[in-house]
Amino acid sequence: MTSPRSRATLQVRPEVMDFSPYSAGLSIQEIKERYGLDTVVKLASNENPLGTSPLVQQVIRSHADHVFRYAQSGNPRLAQKIAAFFGLQTECVVTGNGSDEVIDLLIRAKARPGIDNIVAFNPCFSMYTVLARLCGVELRQTPLNDDFSFNWDALVSLTDDNTAIVFVTTPDNPSGYTPPVEEIMALAKRLPEQCLLVVDEAYMDFTGNRDAHSMMPRLADFPNVCVLRTFSKSFGLAGLRLGFGAMQPELAGYLKRIRPPFSVNILAEHAGMAAMDDTVFFNETLRVTAEGRDYLNRELAALGCTVYPSKANFIMFEAPIDGAELHEQLLRRGIILRPLNKGYGLPRHMRVTVGNAHENKVFINAFKEILNVR
Ligand SMILES: *Cc1c(COP(=O)(O)O)cnc(C)c1O
Repeated sequence: MTSPRSRATLQVRPEVMDFSPYSAGLSIQEIKERYGLDTVVKLASNENPLGTSPLVQQVIRSHADHVFRYAQSGNPRLAQKIAAFFGLQTECVVTGNGSDEVIDLLIRAKARPGIDNIVAFNPCFSMYTVLARLCGVELRQTPLNDDFSFNWDALVSLTDDNTAIVFVTTPDNPSGYTPPVEEIMALAKRLPEQCLLVVDEAYMDFTGNRDAHSMMPRLADFPNVCVLRTFSKSFGLAGLRLGFGAMQPELAGYLKRIRPPFSVNILAEHAGMAAMDDTVFFNETLRVTAEGRDYLNRELAALGCTVYPSKANFIMFEAPIDGAELHEQLLRRGIILRPLNKGYGLPRHMRVTVGNAHENKVFINAFKEILNVR
């Protein structure tokens, strides 16, 4: 006879039962173990080509003895510094445990499960889909154009009086496509009144031209727009988890009310402030990335790839051979790229992060070897 306890079925929400998690790129350790390699070049997750800023490292070390304390709730000093650095009002800034947390807060603050919907392009950054699904909110998507540019009319046609959020990523991931900011302003004016336009600018620094592309300096004119930024890429803090949203103060107030009190930890807070101080590291990151992007563009084209123009710190290309095969051949040589077959349905497309000069060269040389080109 079975006890009542063993017969009891575990009850979870249906959204949780069917949940397919965010699939992260392979880690360096996994590849070392699987292929018996000593060195691995990871160009899969758009991390900083220079590593961690020396100033950030020093500040983290100097705060090591403080980790027994809670951070000051809401990280006010960090929010103030972000506001000053990016030219925002402090009341507009909501910090989070990566911009992922701000995406989650926005969805939960704005979208009513079973009633509202969220609109985005397909493919889009998978956290929008993952978190919408978890929240039980309908996600409506319209395909990108064949050249990965944006079909604004199709996007707007998916919206209605129950659209809580429209997500747009610029520069886009994984294509690198970056529309003129005028197009985003025009979109903001066309959306239903209750709808928030979330512009994810995770890679904006790498465009080198925020006037032409960023909504951040224009926020005051667009109360229905929220801009997302992250410290994971151009500031080199992916492992510490720090991002923020810039939005109208009323919405920011609601997000701060519902956010967990200590989600930005004490080391992330201090590291974020140091990262904004280290302009040498930041500028060098942008220089190395722009140089490496030019190099990879040239070399990939010379190898017969279709290269999509990118303003970000990664490049999407279509290889002359099958993407899964290329991915596997590169892994054996200790190089990790992001294949776009799974999740994106693009069997020959790959995304490569712009690394430092050495990493880029190692990748191109391995690619030549795989293609039998000298
Ligand atoms: C990397 C990335 C982010 C940053 O996420 P964090 O949680 O801040 O690390 C946000 N949006 C897009 C599109 C990204 O590619």
